[in-house]
Amino acid sequence: MGSGLAGLERFYNVVINLNLFNWCIFLSILELLSLLGDYEKLKEERTCKICMDAESSVVFLPCGHIVCCSSCAPVLRTCPICRSYIKGSVRAYMP
Ligand SMILES: [Zn+2]
Ligand SMILES: [Zn+2]
Repeated sequence: MGSGLAGLERFYNVVINLNLFNWCIFLSILELLSLLGDYEKLKEERTCKICMDAESSVVFLPCGHIVCCSSCAPVLRTCPICRSYIKGSVRAYMP
């Protein structure tokens, strides 16, 4: 009976360790997902709002909005955000 109990105890230990291990994996996956979410959000914020592909890199003047990439900028006459007339654009270099 004693050995049976010890076996059960060992079994429980394995289960607990396994759960802890799984929990750690679960937590790191969650962490990874939230990091990925942040990254996606950041990427989305920086993605060109016109072609949704390239990175936004043009600053519109005089409003100063950064909305689209250098290939889409010439197509726009007004800023998609504030609707003000674009008098010029400056290429922005973001790190
Ligand atoms: Zn674009
Ligand atoms: Zn604007």
